[in-house]
Amino acid sequence: MRCRSGAPQQALRDLERAFKNFLTIPERGFPVFKKKGRKDSFYLEGSIKIFQGNYIQLPRIGVVKTYEILPSVPVKNVTISKKADSWYISFKYNFEQDTTEKVGETIGVDIGINTLATCSDGSKFANVKAYKQAKKQLVRHQRAVSKKVIGFLRNATQTKNRRKAVKKLAKVHKKVVNIRADALHKLTTWLAKNHSTIVIEDLNVSGMLKNHKLASAIVDCGFYEFKRQLTYKCEWYGSELVIADRFYPSSQICSNCGHQQKMPLHERTYNCANCGFSYGMLPYGMLRKRKQADRDFNAAVNLENYVNK
Ligand SMILES: [Zn+2]
Repeated sequence: MRCRSGAPQQALRDLERAFKNFLTIPERGFPVFKKKGRKDSFYLEGSIKIFQGNYIQLPRIGVVKTYEILPSVPVKNVTISKKADSWYISFKYNFEQDTTEKVGETIGVDIGINTLATCSDGSKFANVKAYKQAKKQLVRHQRAVSKKVIGFLRNATQTKNRRKAVKKLAKVHKKVVNIRADALHKLTTWLAKNHSTIVIEDLNVSGMLKNHKLASAIVDCGFYEFKRQLTYKCEWYGSELVIADRFYPSSQICSNCGHQQKMPLHERTYNCANCGFSYGMLPYGMLRKRKQADRDFNAAVNLENYVNK
């Protein structure tokens, strides 16, 4: 697609950023060229107008109708991207900060796989079931793709069939990503909006250690995304995000007496060897419910205590 002067300028800015990233964080690797079919997107700037809620006037392209209602704000530039056959438009605009007083005070959040999040106030966020289902589909479609012939000897039909299979796989991928993103957004918004201080673990490290069996890319991205969303949403809503030291053993400490003991992954209940405290027997402060009596909850309470030490 031919574009106005804005696009090449943006390309230069992207290049500059790529080199800066490479020079400061060498692990990211030397900048590589974009490839068609992977992260397809382009940038547009110029006179952009939003009207009637879901119409947007773009330079070169013309009027585009969107599925979602757009905010009626001035827009200077947009990025248009393609994900599994659907087109997306994104742009930045200024957001009015919400300064309503927070009801909840400090909350500790333990992030996991079986349960997306366990909070120190007793609330739990289940991992969406649809995600598991979609994951099964993902495996099936991935198999379909890998069974297709590749290489020099394949004919036109085989090429076409493989492309079709790849498309289907991409669609399921998108679904998985969307389901996960939706659940994460709900969680992070709730946390940032209703609490003045949110304490989480250092996710990169403990997340990987805890889940080495499930170390799928999707899971890892989930943790990173959780932290990222929480960071900017806390800024929006004027709350504070505290990240516990990576060596803080939130799952090993007894939240009742402070005793520390090894907690192998299969032990789902915390039974303190020192004070005999167990979440199965004695609800914490008599306020917490019995069904929330597990190691994740103990960890969440410890995270809450992390800032009150
Ligand atoms: Zn104890």
